Amino acid sequence: MATYKAKSIVLKSYRLGESDKIIRLLSMEHGIISAVAKGACNFKSRFSGRLELFNIIDCEISTGRNLDVISQAEIIEVFRGISSDFFKFNISQIISEITLKTQSEGAPSTNIFRLLYVALREINKCCPDANITLKKILVFFLAKFLKIMGYVPLFDSCSICGRNIFAQETVPDQKGFMFSIKYGGAICHECRKNVEGLLFIDKTCAEILISLFSAKIENIISSNVTEKNTDNLLNILENYFIHHMDIRIDSFDYLKKIEKIQLY
Ligand SMILES: [Zn+2]
Repeated sequence: MATYKAKSIVLKSYRLGESDKIIRLLSMEHGIISAVAKGACNFKSRFSGRLELFNIIDCEISTGRNLDVISQAEIIEVFRGISSDFFKFNISQIISEITLKTQSEGAPSTNIFRLLYVALREINKCCPDANITLKKILVFFLAKFLKIMGYVPLFDSCSICGRNIFAQETVPDQKGFMFSIKYGGAICHECRKNVEGLLFIDKTCAEILISLFSAKIENIISSNVTEKNTDNLLNILENYFIHHMDIRIDSFDYLKKIEKIQLY
């Protein structure tokens, strides 16, 4: 049986029969990997603690007739702070679900792997109850993920006619701009009359949104973006993401339910 090595992030695991588990990984070398960890549910399993969600591991995998089999797993880094915090876990679940639904087997992306690693590392580091910081990390993740996948929205020219959005004659008010999820960016003063479902993005949010795609994670975390603006950006990016990547992310709905419960 052929074997291969993979530096991976554990994204999902579920039980297979009495004692085995199927583990889904994002690897640096091979993209998504789905493999069986034999005996992983047993009390004295040799995998004990190594295949927990969001662990960074080095593993050796044997190619099987149907499913590949994990023969060895060594821990590189463990993010213990994630699984012990409900909100951190949920944000990490969104990241995991997005990755599993958009990345494929045999199509590795070093940039996506690094982005996941950085996002999970920062989520793990957050203080308890730092929900606004966690949402900023998610905003950062969504923007960078879109950039890597080639879906950066158009901000400086109109997404319909190509006219310069910031030219004086097209923007009578300097308070922000109109944005279309469907057309993938800003819409000029002329075109906005014929487009439905436009979102108004005020000047503050617009500046943050434009800078997000090239910002560093530490700049986003330390920025003084208000919770209201963070929620607004999260909402825009979530809808943009779902529309253009054409996927459903159930963990987003779950995040909203938790937030409602926390309000009471
Ligand atoms: Zn236009």
